[in-house]
Formats: sequence, structure tokens, C-alpha cells
Amino acid sequence: MECCNHFGLLQTVYQNKQFSVRPELPGLFRYFDWLPVSETIPTTACPITFQNKNISKTVGLPNLWFTFTGWAPEIGAYAKTGSFKELEAYPTLSRAPHTQSIVVASAGNTGRAFAQACTETGASVVLLVPETSLDSLWTVTPAGPNIKLIAVSGDYSDAIRLSEKLCASDGFVSEGGAKNVARRDGMGTVMLNAAETIGRLPNRYFQAVGSGTGGIAAWEASKRLIQDGRFGSSLPKLHLIQNQPFTPMFSAWKRGSRDINASDFSDSSIASVYSPVLTNRTPPYGIPGGVFDAMCACGGDISAVDNSSAKESFRIFENETGIDLDPAAAVAFAGLIQAAENGIVCANETIVLNLTGGGFKKIEEDLGKIPIDVAAAVSSEFSANELKEVLK
Ligand SMILES: *Cc1c(COP(=O)(O)O)cnc(C)c1O
Repeated sequence: MECCNHFGLLQTVYQNKQFSVRPELPGLFRYFDWLPVSETIPTTACPITFQNKNISKTVGLPNLWFTFTGWAPEIGAYAKTGSFKELEAYPTLSRAPHTQSIVVASAGNTGRAFAQACTETGASVVLLVPETSLDSLWTVTPAGPNIKLIAVSGDYSDAIRLSEKLCASDGFVSEGGAKNVARRDGMGTVMLNAAETIGRLPNRYFQAVGSGTGGIAAWEASKRLIQDGRFGSSLPKLHLIQNQPFTPMFSAWKRGSRDINASDFSDSSIASVYSPVLTNRTPPYGIPGGVFDAMCACGGDISAVDNSSAKESFRIFENETGIDLDPAAAVAFAGLIQAAENGIVCANETIVLNLTGGGFKKIEEDLGKIPIDVAAAVSSEFSANELKEVLK
């Protein structure tokens, strides 16, 4: 979804200016009126907003809310692949043409969400995944023959480059990344669920970012809620958190720059982060309507936390709630704790912490994880034709 005359992210405009909820529709499709879809897909994935008294007390924030997308039946969270990438996959599939194969480059969570969703709908998908992320590629029902998992030598960025080559061929279409409005408005349901549950927009929104698309989505959803009139008139400040030592957006933001340059990150640091899903080298940061513009509109900050504080946050959260977080969600929680300790957050403020994934131990117990067979292992230097040959 691009405009050939304007460089920048297209944004959706919906007929319905009032926030409305359709509880009869499945999962996140309860927010149908603010999703760019005309049909729904049966799914149980939906963000769930809740509080935890002990954690609120520990961090000194009585109005701290968690919006969780993952598997935790005890709080009503039923995203079967354990991450908020399901919020992107289902709306994308509701819009996708049925005649082409969808191509997804993924460091793990997106590929797993699309694999499960396409297994349910029968849509064809090619998943290009770095060989180091193959362990995170599983489904909870056996993956159909319409799912083609390709292991790519190198890292996430190599998988992205190969997917771009394949998408230039007939019969293959990219899932679209940040430019896909279905992905952004799907992620925006996190803010919608928070506002529905709390009854107002939060003062601040915290999320761990690799591409930052979730931050852009939170800004866009907040603008709609402000227009509604019942949820407040100020945009939530965005607090986006990266995982040290790989922090391109944090570094560029601290320089006050709209552009990420080579000095903002080192490729070798990708291998040492706790959360590999946060290692995107080419995020939609400087593009009009992207992360930089979202930050300028909302205020807030981009910060960074190291592996050990993320692991400590994982332990605190699991001890209090019994939920094992995705490493990225633990990074976000660590960022919140850091901001609270530094006095950046006032005690009376309403905070939403987007917990973007978790519940993997229970998924194993309740549903079972079935590894997806690798159709082929290829070099990232493959041409589109070589890759198409392999796919036959
Ligand atoms: C993809 C992902 C993120 C990062 O989201 P972006 O908004 O695209 O940067 C955070 N947490 C989890 C669990 C993810 O899968």
C-alpha cells in the first residue's frame, strides 16, 4: 500500500468517528469498525488489559495497566502463537488477494503468527526466516502444505533482502510491513482495548520496538480516540524501548536526527541481544508518518535497556503473575521500571505497558507446539529465480 506520488505511510480514515465495539465478532475483530477489512476470520487473538496490585506497588504506579497479547487463559488472553504479531496477521489475511502467495520475512514471531493463521485459512504463505530463528517457528495445529518455511543463511536483514527479491516476481506479494495499514491498525487494537477497559487514553504508552510500527500504530489509534471525544484530548506520550547493544532508533533519536546512520548501530551487536525480534536495521523511522514523526507529535522518549535488566524484569513479572513474557515484553517492562526509577513517570499518571507476547509455557501445556518442517535452506545470495525453483 503505497502512493506512487508521495513518499510516506498512508493512513486509514474510517467513516465511523465514534469508537464502537462489536463483541459478537471474533477476537480482535471486535474493533471491526476501525480495521481496514470487510470480512472477519475466526480467531481468539485479542489484546487484554489488566492490572496487578503487587507490581503497581513495587514500581510505585497505582495506575499502571498492562495490555497483553499472548496466551494466558486465566485473564482471557488466547493468542495461540503467543505474540501481538497475530493482531497483524489476521487483518492482513482478511484483505489479502487469494490468488497469490504472501511472502513474510520474519525473525520468528511474525512468521509463527502467519503460519498459524494461514494454516487456519488455507492461504499460501512463504516464510523466509534466518536459520538461527528456526526454533521459534511452530504452530499449534499441524501446518498445512500451503505453508512453505525457508531457512535463510545470515540474520533477519538477510531474510528481508531475499523477500524483496521474491516479491518482485509474479504470483508473490509482500505482506507489506509497516506500510500495510492492516498491520498498523491491527496493532492499534492494543490502544483500543486499553481505552475500552480503562475508559480513557493513558498519559503514557510503553513498548519495546524493533521496527517501531507498534508505536506508530498507538499514535494513529490515539488520534482516532481523541476525535471520538470521550477518551481525553491529549496524545499519550510514547516510550519506545530498544535492547542494548542493538539500538539504531535510540541512537538516532538521542542525536536529534530523523535519519539512522551507520554510526547508530553495529551489525555484530545483533547476535548479543536477549530479544532478537527487536533487531531491525531498517525501521520506518525517518519516513513521513513514521516513528520520528510519531515521537514528535506525542512527546515521550526512546530509551534502551540491557539484557540483564530485561531478564530481571522477566523474573519479577513471572513471579507475580505466573506469565512467562516474550523477551521483548520483558525489555518493555524493564524500560518502564527504569523510567519510574528515574522519576520520568509521575505516580498518579495512567500508564499502559504493551506486553507484546508471552505465555509460552502454557501454550506448550494447553495446546502443544508442533515444529514447522523446513522446506529448504537457501543462501541469502539466491536470486528470485533460484528461490522459485526451490519452491516448486
Ligand atoms: C515484533 C515484536 C515487537 C516489536 O514491534 P514493533 O512495533 O514492530 O517494533 C515487540 N515485541 C514482540 C513480542 C514482537 O514480536
